[in-house]
Amino acid sequence: MHYEGNIIRPPSEANSILLQVTVGCSRNKCTFCGTFMGERFRIKSDDIIMQDIAFAAKYCKKQRRIFLCDGDVMIVPQKRLLHILTEIKKQLPWVTRVGVYANAKSLKMKTVDELRTLKDNGIGIAYMGLETGDDVTLKNINKGATSETMIQMGKKAREAGIKLSITVLLGIAGRERSQIHARETGRVLSAIDPEYTGALSLMLIPGTPLHKDYEAGKFTLIEPDEMLQELRTMIAHTHMSRGLFHANHASNYLPIRARLPRDKEETLKLIDQALEGSVALKPEWLRAL
Ligand code: SF4
Repeated sequence: MHYEGNIIRPPSEANSILLQVTVGCSRNKCTFCGTFMGERFRIKSDDIIMQDIAFAAKYCKKQRRIFLCDGDVMIVPQKRLLHILTEIKKQLPWVTRVGVYANAKSLKMKTVDELRTLKDNGIGIAYMGLETGDDVTLKNINKGATSETMIQMGKKAREAGIKLSITVLLGIAGRERSQIHARETGRVLSAIDPEYTGALSLMLIPGTPLHKDYEAGKFTLIEPDEMLQELRTMIAHTHMSRGLFHANHASNYLPIRARLPRDKEETLKLIDQALEGSVALKPEWLRAL
């Protein structure tokens, strides 16, 4: 397989075939993100992508899922993306689900019908970084979308039948807006009602604008107990019809895996116990991105 630059994939795609379709991220402006720093976004040539599909057809016969890397493959023009999906279907008929990253901008560029066509041709799940539902914070981190746009785009993907996995970021609003961020994120998650939500805890990456703000004293990195308070408020304000809420990423202090709404009260109780000190938190040295 031909890989270039930093390859990232969601934790749940750990066993998937990783087919790199783009290099970098089409936005690449979020102040906290160092994943594709300095990387110019581009779509890889069809020749290389087809060679990789042929390679996977030969050597990846046991993998039932495929993830199209890097950041934001949903931005690939419809015709090209359909061509890739058709080849996957033809050459890897055992693959049951194609996953991609998507952001508000790329979802905005596709109609519901186009998204439905992508779904019918294999895309089963889109991973979308919401980070926060707080409009002030969305602007501060240069996410490039308002909470209303996030809601509309999330709903659009779901209307097309594509499962949605949304990432939110504990600590991203700093101290002052921590609780507002938690409540507003709950509001947006409730409106989108995704199948999966993953809460990560902010870790500052040297070289990013947010890290520079932190060094200049313009951004406060909240403490573990404040992250837990944030998580508690967020879950309390998230009203889903059904969905998995995970906070079991390596960056998190307290691993949580809750099916909402069923496990809500139990999860809030667990967070309260951790806040009281009767449940241990993950030590700092064990955290990672
Ligand atoms: S957070 Fe996502 S959309 Fe923003 S720059 Fe990083 S990869 Fe791109």
